[in-house]
Formats: sequence, structure tokens, C-alpha cells
Amino acid sequence: MPTTAAPDVLEGLEHFRRLVALQQPTWPDAAALADATTHLASSSPLVVPAEADLLRDRLAAAGRGEAFLLQGGDCAETFAEANADRIRNKVRTILQMAVILTHGASTPVVKMGRMAGQYAKPRSSDTETRDGVTLPAYRGDMVNGHEFTPAHRVPDPQRLVQAYDISAATLNVVRAFTRGGYADLRRVHEWNQGFMQNPAYARYERTATEIDRAIRFMDACGADFDALRTVEFFVSHEALVLEYERALTRVDSRTGAAYDTSGHFVWIGERTRQIDGAHVDFLSRVANPIGVKLGPTTAPADAVALVEKLNPDAVPGRLTFITRMGAGRIREALPPLVEAVTATGVPVTWITDAMHGNTITSTSGYKTRRFEDVLDEVRGFFEVHRALGTVPGGLHCELTGDDVTEVLGGSEEIDDAGLALRYETLVDPRLNHQQSLEMAFQVAEMLRR
Ligand code: PEP
Ligand code: MN
Repeated sequence: MPTTAAPDVLEGLEHFRRLVALQQPTWPDAAALADATTHLASSSPLVVPAEADLLRDRLAAAGRGEAFLLQGGDCAETFAEANADRIRNKVRTILQMAVILTHGASTPVVKMGRMAGQYAKPRSSDTETRDGVTLPAYRGDMVNGHEFTPAHRVPDPQRLVQAYDISAATLNVVRAFTRGGYADLRRVHEWNQGFMQNPAYARYERTATEIDRAIRFMDACGADFDALRTVEFFVSHEALVLEYERALTRVDSRTGAAYDTSGHFVWIGERTRQIDGAHVDFLSRVANPIGVKLGPTTAPADAVALVEKLNPDAVPGRLTFITRMGAGRIREALPPLVEAVTATGVPVTWITDAMHGNTITSTSGYKTRRFEDVLDEVRGFFEVHRALGTVPGGLHCELTGDDVTEVLGGSEEIDDAGLALRYETLVDPRLNHQQSLEMAFQVAEMLRR
């Protein structure tokens, strides 16, 4: 990234305040907000620039087809569920999926959680009305409480500090799980074998057997190297609440460049990607690898403008487009975007969020998605990129490591009535542990060529 003198960088980091920032909380107390952000500004970074730089290189490889990104985690993390068991289950699910995908892709899989900061949500309405009572909408644990009472729903700046503290604790657990023997490839493989014992998954037998043979072959050869025992694991979240992101942004003394140290990778959501908006301006000024969600109404010119503003130096791995078109639209909506962006000559890593374009309301009233629709969008994503000669670089999923019932379908068929059993998400429906692994098997088949 280019380096600029620190005073200019610092001034630039404040520019977003003069622009329209959508989806921001209305904080009731400016002094309390200042206290919170001052505290964050003097707190330790959650990630360091060198890690973000490494991830940029990894994402550049994904953009070239030399790696594949797996990004997954909750729609919205919650403070209440940031315990070691839940975190471990999520990390384990991602590691299990990664083994399956690595085999399918025959390239490294870059592992990234929607974790340790995914605490803020854009909402379609500022308010929510229940039984004639109207309160501010829930905007994520970083902003307010989910419980429907006036006291919980008022945005509380101390929650920014809590989000930071809990993210730090989460990251600590993530680092411990992925550095120690827990992430050992052979152990992850054993978990996958446990999954395969369920006859529901017999259709994945061939892939599972091939992976098993590959691992036994390595063992027989005595292969034993660090890469088998530990994994690189990155964290990411939507950079939505700009007060939080700004307070955690630091100028790197090595280079003079600014890094948002709240996560390795941060993205701009579909609702806040206006080219003249505060989010695009702010993230244009940090050196992290960043993403932008692109929905089905994105004009090719909008995508090109984002490329020019967010990656003016054409740095590989700097910009990832996360497309979320919907299964019914991806085959028509994606090609013009990919063609226009490719024509700029600027490298972009394309990944598919096959979740957000496929949200429906079930007959029983739950916000849900059909497993089949999610898979079909991924299939469409591969078809489009292969037809255009561009690279399908990764997969973005809302998932959990637990046994929830939020997404319809899968081989252990969750039907409409089944949603009620363990529907736990506060915002969007997540693939459960089994559905996530099944997704990995299906995508692994698409990756084989
Ligand atoms: C999300 O990732 O949870 C989200 C809100 O996505 P999008 O910005 O694509 O709607
Ligand atoms: Mn979501």
C-alpha cells in the first residue's frame, strides 16, 4: 500500500464524519460515546498489521485460483454465546469443512471466521413494533440488547467496549485452538469420519474415502510437518459501526499506513456500499484486505467505481467482492459485473455469499433459507466464473457449529415444522454443523475439475 505522512493519514481517517453514514445507531449520550471511543483508541489492537498483510497475500492467491477462501460464522455473534464451547464448535466446523474443500480444490483453503467482532447488524427498519409498542430495532450486541424493552433497545456506547473485550477473549480462544494440537489435520479428519458414520451422508462416501486414503498415505510416508498441526485462521466482520472501527484503527509505524485492527478482514455490507458514503470512504483509507457485498441490483458501473476507489493501486488481495445474488438471479446478474470489473484490469477476488439472496419466510413464520437454494447459488457462481474464464475464489456462509434448526433441508431433512425445535439465531438463519459439512462436500465436488 502507498505510504503517506501520518498527519495526512490521520486527517483522512476523520473524513468519513463529513459524509452520510447509513445504519448508524442514534447514540443518546455524546459524552458516554466519547468515553467509550477514547477507551478503545488507547486499547491494544486485536490484530496486527503483519497478519492483515499475510491475509492479503492469501486472498490474492484465492483471486488467482491458487487458494480457496472459506469464510463462515454467525450472522450476528452474541455476547451471551461467546463461550469457549460455542467458539470451539464453530472453529471445528470451519476446520472440518476446510479439509473437505482442500481435497476438492487441491489448493490451500484460507480459513476465516465471521467472528470476534461480528456484533453489529444493518436493519431494514430503524424501529420494531410489537403489540402496538414501537422501540428501536435491535442492531447487534455492539449497539443494543435484543430483549424488547426500552432499556435494552436504547443504544449504549459501553457496548462498544464490551464488544472489544469479548472479541479479544474470542480471538484468544481461536488462537489457542488453532495453534495447539486441536487443529491437527489428522484429528480434524477423525471428526469428519465421525460425521460420515451417519448413513444419511452415504452419498459423500467416495470423497470421504479418498480423503482418508490421502491421509493414510501421508502417515505411511511419515509426513509430519507444522502445516499438519496448526492452521492459519483469520477473523472478519462487517465494518458497520464506524465509531468502533475508527477507534481501533492505528497507523502502522513500519509503513505509515492505517490498519483497522478490529479484525484481519472487514467488509462493507450491501446496504452501506454507496460510493460517496462514509463506509466506502473510511475503508478506502485502511490497508487491510477488505470486502464489499454486491447484491442483484448492483450496476456494473457501481462495481467499477468501487474498484477504482477501494483498490486504486491494483493491489492483489486488497479487494474481495462478495456476491449475494440469490439462486434465481446469479446466472443473469453476475456476468455483467464480472465482465465490467475484469475489463478494469484490477485484480479482485470473487467469493459467493450464497445465503443472503436466498432468505425466505417459512409457512410457520420463520426467517429461513432452503439448503437447496444455497447450493444452487454456489453452483451458479461456479458456472458463471467458469464460463467467463474468471476465478471462483471462495465461499461465505452463515453457519454455526451447533445443532440448530434454522435452514430448511439437508440430508437430515429439516422441514417447516422442524424449524421450531432449535431456532436460536437472533437475526439470519445459519447452517447447522451437519449442513455445513454437507455443504463442504457438495462444494468440493464443484471444485474438482
Ligand atoms: C450479513 O452478512 O449478515 C449481511 C447483512 O449481509 P448483506 O450486507 O449482504 O445484506
Ligand atoms: Mn446475515
